[in-house]
Amino acid sequence: VSSADGPIEALALLRFRPDGLVIGHEPADPRVPQLSVLDLAATRGDGVFETISIGRGVPQALEAHLARLAHSAAVLDLPSAAAAEGPWRAAVLAVAEALGAAAGLPEEGFVKIVLSRGVEGADTPTGWAYGTASPDHSALRRDGVRVVLLDRGYRHDVAHTSPWLLAGAKTLSYAINRSAFREAARRGADDVVWVSSDGYLLEGPVSSLVILRGGRLFTPSTDLGILAGTTQADLFAWAATERGLHGAFEPLTPSDLAAADAAWLVSSVRHAVPIRAVDGREHAIDAELTGAMNAFLRDRTR
Ligand code: PLP
Repeated sequence: VSSADGPIEALALLRFRPDGLVIGHEPADPRVPQLSVLDLAATRGDGVFETISIGRGVPQALEAHLARLAHSAAVLDLPSAAAAEGPWRAAVLAVAEALGAAAGLPEEGFVKIVLSRGVEGADTPTGWAYGTASPDHSALRRDGVRVVLLDRGYRHDVAHTSPWLLAGAKTLSYAINRSAFREAARRGADDVVWVSSDGYLLEGPVSSLVILRGGRLFTPSTDLGILAGTTQADLFAWAATERGLHGAFEPLTPSDLAAADAAWLVSSVRHAVPIRAVDGREHAIDAELTGAMNAFLRDRTR
């Protein structure tokens, strides 16, 4: 953990056997370079990742994140043993503990875990877990984001027709996701909701879409080539038991978003961010429900 004159951060490097099996982790110095310039993470974006919220020292939705890492690794044909959950879980817990032990850690942090195909030609994966404090997202959670709808350029059934496009895997190749944010900024907005080329709402570049309509929550189904959101899953379970708001996966279109009583982009770290405008048209925010969602998400103990 480094904290004296820089950010509070911690790093663990995963250890792999030559055949790709992940076997453990060791602490490492986050302030010095650790990655080869030949690593396929850097040169091709050829790998997968997860970002896990830490709330008061506890990694949240950890099991769902580990399962999704394994799924993403399988979609990319990474060695399945490289994503074995035990060593990754241990690395995340060690990094979270190291952060918690550092003085001055704010209540919220995150750990990002990365698994790449490794150094080109070496056939051994690379993996690490890096943790630090989260930015203060309280204003975003209260005031929300202005979104634009952007064409993703794929049909809703891309995961079935073209599995080599890796839709639904959380890959390191996020240049397009970043580019979408710049397009949103050019249009005077803060965030994006992707739409399939045949007109279905998908997800944000770093979040899942949830809408409230008629006392029920809806999110696009995961067979649309989008990520299965861990935050969305926890939120639906909470809303059903604590608020009587039942959740469903449904095909949704832009008119469903326009007609929604409220809508959110939800994700680890940022949690539930209300949508305050869509393509320049103001959208109602449910401040009370948003606050309750974020209190629940922030205080999760697993
Ligand atoms: N969809 C995409 C494309 C994402 O990148 C993310 C998270 O970063 C999500 C959805 C939300 O997933 P989670 O709630 O598990 O963080």
